[in-house]
Amino acid sequence: MDTCQEIQADGTPCKMRPQLNGVCFNHDPARATERTLSRQRGGLLRSRQTALLLLEDVGMSPAEFKSPADVCKLLSNTIKNVQTGRLDRRIGSAVGMLAGVLLRAIEISTLDDRLGAIERELSKQKGA
Ligand SMILES: [Zn+2]
Repeated sequence: MDTCQEIQADGTPCKMRPQLNGVCFNHDPARATERTLSRQRGGLLRSRQTALLLLEDVGMSPAEFKSPADVCKLLSNTIKNVQTGRLDRRIGSAVGMLAGVLLRAIEISTLDDRLGAIERELSKQKGA
């Protein structure tokens, strides 16, 4: 026999190539976990590809979000892609959450720079 012994959900015989036990990979109960992992892996790869497309759309690589304007561009693009169904809303949520953290970090970094400049100016004035 050169096809799987199982019947498909639509009632027709499975035409896949059988393994030694007579059923194909998709119909082998012993390989259910393997199938699940394989599907999950495929999902992750698709998510990653979508995320990269999103970054390409914004014209940035992941390391280049340095100003609030950069983050705004990313967020508006993310929203647009979630709205049109091009991007999984879970990825959209993750981007939104991380963008919030990033904005806060940019804010702190900017304040830190300003404080440093003020301190340098003050110590110059004391020294003069
Ligand atoms: Zn089969």
